[in-house]
Amino acid sequence: MENPNYTNPVERRMKQKQTRKAHFIINATLAAKESCEDPFDYAKGTIKETLTQLAIGTSFQLTPLGVLESRDMAYGPFETRTKANFIIPSELNEKGLDWQGNKWFIGEVPMIWDDYMQPNYGIKRVYRCAECENIQMFKGSCSKCKGEGRPHIKTMEIKDWGEDF
Ligand SMILES: [Zn+2]
Repeated sequence: MENPNYTNPVERRMKQKQTRKAHFIINATLAAKESCEDPFDYAKGTIKETLTQLAIGTSFQLTPLGVLESRDMAYGPFETRTKANFIIPSELNEKGLDWQGNKWFIGEVPMIWDDYMQPNYGIKRVYRCAECENIQMFKGSCSKCKGEGRPHIKTMEIKDWGEDF
């Protein structure tokens, strides 16, 4: 007699695969720019609507998240929140904004792709002075401020995704 609770390893793995999550990181400020909604509310709404549309069989490219992804306002699929977070170009200030004034939001959708995206950990970094906005290529206190007699002004690391520097 068959044990009703029995699941073979292959079956179990397939089930796990079905419930795997894909993390997308959304530049919420940029995405919400053309609406009058709060950036986080807008991003949450995007994920909710995307889940609804995926459930009825809409292809990802046509969902709100797919559209943001094609416009470089969302990135993924990442396996973990940590990997998704790597896309944020700088540390966040006390208001939760990156150095360009953007808020970021991570949402989860089912993993429907063959492979996760890997962040480019080799991305070029530059360092921006909090006071004079000087950009330098090396870590540590600002060399321009130092030259002007202020030796210990902090710099912030920026990942140069846009090849701006
Ligand atoms: Zn400086």
